[in-house]
Amino acid sequence: MPAPDLATGGDAPTSVLAGVGPGVAEKLAAQGLLCVRDLWFHLPLRYEDRTRLSAVRGLRAGEPAQVDARVEAIERSFRHRPMLQVAVGDESGASLVLRFFHFTAAQAAQFAVGRRIRVFGTPREGRVGLEIAHPSYRFLADEGEVELSDRLDPVYPALEGIGAAALRRWVGLALQRLPPAQELELLPPAILADLHLPGLREALLAVHRPTAGTDTALLATGAHPAQKRLALEELLAYQIGLRRQRMAIRRLGARPIVAGDALVAALRARLGFALTGAQERVLAQIDADMALAEPMLRLLQGDVGSGKTAVAALASVRAVAAGRQVALMAPTELLGEQHCASFRAWLEPLGVQVAWLAGKLPARARRDVLAAIADGRAQVVIGTHALMQEGVAFADLGLVVVDEQHRFGVHQRLALRDKGVAGELVPHQLVMTATPIPRTLAMTAYADLDVSVIDELPPGRTPVQTVAASAARRDELIERVRVACAEGRQAYWVCTLIDDNEELQAQAASSLHQQLVERLPGLRVGFVHGRMKPADKQATMRAFKDAALDVLVATTVIEVGVDVPRASLMLIENAERLGLAQLHQLRGRVGRGAAVSTCVLIYQPPLSMQARQRIEAMRATTDGFVIAQKDLELRGPGELLGARQTGLAQFRVADLMRDAPLLPRVQQIAADLLASDPALAERLVARWVGGAERYAGA
Ligand code: ADP
Ligand code: MG
Repeated sequence: MPAPDLATGGDAPTSVLAGVGPGVAEKLAAQGLLCVRDLWFHLPLRYEDRTRLSAVRGLRAGEPAQVDARVEAIERSFRHRPMLQVAVGDESGASLVLRFFHFTAAQAAQFAVGRRIRVFGTPREGRVGLEIAHPSYRFLADEGEVELSDRLDPVYPALEGIGAAALRRWVGLALQRLPPAQELELLPPAILADLHLPGLREALLAVHRPTAGTDTALLATGAHPAQKRLALEELLAYQIGLRRQRMAIRRLGARPIVAGDALVAALRARLGFALTGAQERVLAQIDADMALAEPMLRLLQGDVGSGKTAVAALASVRAVAAGRQVALMAPTELLGEQHCASFRAWLEPLGVQVAWLAGKLPARARRDVLAAIADGRAQVVIGTHALMQEGVAFADLGLVVVDEQHRFGVHQRLALRDKGVAGELVPHQLVMTATPIPRTLAMTAYADLDVSVIDELPPGRTPVQTVAASAARRDELIERVRVACAEGRQAYWVCTLIDDNEELQAQAASSLHQQLVERLPGLRVGFVHGRMKPADKQATMRAFKDAALDVLVATTVIEVGVDVPRASLMLIENAERLGLAQLHQLRGRVGRGAAVSTCVLIYQPPLSMQARQRIEAMRATTDGFVIAQKDLELRGPGELLGARQTGLAQFRVADLMRDAPLLPRVQQIAADLLASDPALAERLVARWVGGAERYAGA
């Protein structure tokens, strides 16, 4: 990969900057700042305006300001804890208290009545007028004009182990190394002119060192042209990277899969239901993809319960009929087992061999499965991450299916695919997810995939009714569970806590379990949590599935995708603390049978504004896409996608939500640049995305 800023010095390590020794360079590197260019792109969070002076009389609580004043009084006290109070005032006649809780004796000794001082900070209402806690300040010469800064001071996102002032200095030094505009610029001038955006050098300087009078409100919203310019280039680089990856895969080619109508028809007959229109449509798309001599790369999105498994099974038998093997990877053993059970019930009567490969198989069983995979007897292989391990070799892998894609990274998906690489040929890939992603986001997050959507649920489902209940109504809720179970239904009661501390969750769930056992005599109440041995966990889940348990108390470990049609009541504790996506997933565990299902969101009052909106959204709709859009609005895309897990890069500058309006242009420019100037496109990717590691080297 060519180093785009080699000539310009952007690729130089941070240690070329004065004051950055090996220790500091290491700390910076640990936080993603390896070279001078990384500091160019480490943008301020906000700014401090020291370009102006205010009169002390004009200060207002909450508004940052700078004043020149003289020390009027000093008071040190040690009553509860050490404290230094310094009163300062100016000609306006008003005064202001500077309050310090941490200070050295030397520092305190510097304050002397009458000394001239320049103070910057945000005043707040104190006991006797305005005060500033721990202002930044410096003493001034007794007489004469003292220059004001002509730039706003940037405040950078804090880095561990690096002082704010030092970081500011180093970014400044890095910026001094910015080359002349035409050397730095990669975007064609026509594009910039067309979008009314500044060049890169100008944009970087404007963002790091805004001149006095710059509209800080505009900067705060990220709508400043300089910020847009940077976001555009970053999104463009990312888009080009994904497109190149996709082109590289396409170039590899795949063996077409066309046979299998008879086997597909036989499976359809065995399913026991007719496919929905949406399932038919996506299956046709998949069939068309697999019939080509280039590898399918399709993302199948479908809400929980929309029937993705049946679609995957139909695609799989087509591959099997063509003499190829299929690998299906699930994120957990439980989900994998469930798929395995479905596939075995459907496929084995048709003479198709379904094998199971998990992490913990007895050595002999594992050997046998590996042998069957290697010689092709195992036609469909279902498993967990274990499928990607060394020693798993397929005779002829034709189709890779990855379920719940968001639980895996791009790397893992590709690692499984690589099991099927034969010369220049790779297997077809189908990835399935129940986490719906709004369109704008899908375009960027999955630019390397074609997207199919199952936007219809199988018939006969009654939408889940969702209600909210304060935790104070627990007695009523327990009674409700009793009644439901007396009618032969089953209930989930999910315990959640604010953090991911499984131990605390498990404790809370454990005491709830005890409570329910006591208060629901005659009902069988089970309990699963994440710290259980997987075998015990699965045994309990299976008992619930087989209706040997009436109520299942669980932490959030209860798996996505678990299918227990008789369960029709879902109670979620501390629902106010969960994100919409998680609430939706949990709710999706019920509503799978014909009975009317209910989801009770139990909350601890008072509800925050955000929590109220989330609960409102849950009550208003059961449509995963509407919920995803709402989630995006409330939380922003990074969290929604679980950035790291999806392989979606952490953007330095861009914000997919804020910069969404740029995306259509970004796509178009990316296509144009790739066609007209591939070398330039490559340099853009190298500048922003770095080497191949983020793209798993497709
Ligand atoms: P998901 O998309 O969440 O993986 P599943 O594939 O687990 O959904 O399907 C949920 C349930 O719906 C399963 O019991 C499945 O057999 C059933 N199902 C799937 N498609 C249909 C259909 N077209 N008609 C009726 N039931 C269906
Ligand atoms: Mg599923």
